[in-house]
Amino acid sequence: MKETDYQLIIVGGGPAGLTAGMYAARGRVKTLLIEKGATGGQVLVTDRVDNYPAFTEGISGFELIDKMTAHADRFGLEKKFAAVASMDLQGERKVITLETGEELTSQAVIICTGAKPRKIAVPGEEELQGRGVSYCATCDGPFYREQNIAVVGGGNTAIQEALHLTKFAARVTVIHRRDSLRATVILQEKAFAEEKINFIWDAQVSEIIGDDNGVASLQIQHNNGSTSTLPVTGIFVLIGVVPNNEALPMEQLERDDSGFIITDHEMCTHLPGVYAAGDIRSKNSRQIINAAGEGATAELSAEHYISNQK
Ligand code: NAP
Repeated sequence: MKETDYQLIIVGGGPAGLTAGMYAARGRVKTLLIEKGATGGQVLVTDRVDNYPAFTEGISGFELIDKMTAHADRFGLEKKFAAVASMDLQGERKVITLETGEELTSQAVIICTGAKPRKIAVPGEEELQGRGVSYCATCDGPFYREQNIAVVGGGNTAIQEALHLTKFAARVTVIHRRDSLRATVILQEKAFAEEKINFIWDAQVSEIIGDDNGVASLQIQHNNGSTSTLPVTGIFVLIGVVPNNEALPMEQLERDDSGFIITDHEMCTHLPGVYAAGDIRSKNSRQIINAAGEGATAELSAEHYISNQK
């Protein structure tokens, strides 16, 4: 076997990839995990993880990833920090080409590239990103001490992060396009009880207004046809995720209408030797614990496939 030839290549180093990598390294499968940034993915920018079993008091996203990485490292998982340019997953030998031009091959591939925040796609969003428009409360919350800010969305992320933002902001206005939240009841109860949070229901942001100094206000379009202006210095857009599928050979993979990869319950895609795990999969619940579990399942499926190839 050449140095660049592996039994298994895992693309993406969030909870799914790290768990798959930990299983593979522990199982002595010749494995490479490729990650384009730092390991961790979206969990890195999650302030507090309160529902990962065994951490009875909760744990910061950063610390959880640190532990997952250390766990995989304990079994000697080989990692490469590089961006994937393209993949050919159809043949028996899977070929992964990095942006550096380096070519790596493997018998099996687990895709764990995750997802990224969805944008609201309104005027001002691109222009003011980083100057008042944010997709990460953990990263940017502390910039808004004693200021009035807005959160867009009604899911778990929006409500959890709106609660987190009350540590800094004077007032957090949640703008939601319907009249009820998608977030779990426990988060809803906390948000309704929080004095610093107020809601604008049945409404969408139609424009983000600002200048070189940052965001100044939001233009709000109400479902009843009226419009209003909300003066804020920051807006956190937390309306779900879209797949990180840019470097994936989407023409080779079965995916749903939103571009998430379709697998069976063993994490197998329709291509032999190709698996997907974590937020890149087409599914309803995107939890860290699901991603980790799917990473384990995908690795066991890949290991089974590899042993039958010999
Ligand atoms: P989500 O559950 O898909 O919710 C997205 C929210 O944004 C919904 O309220 C949706 O409105 C709204 N929305 C979508 N597109 C919009 C648009 N173009 N304009 C305005 N509003 C829009 O996404 P998420 O909250 O990011 O959560 C993603 C996954 O992670 C979920 O599976 C969630 O359970 C999980 N998660 C779990 C936790 C936890 O367990 N503590 C924490 C964070 C995330 P509608 O309701 O009208 O569709």
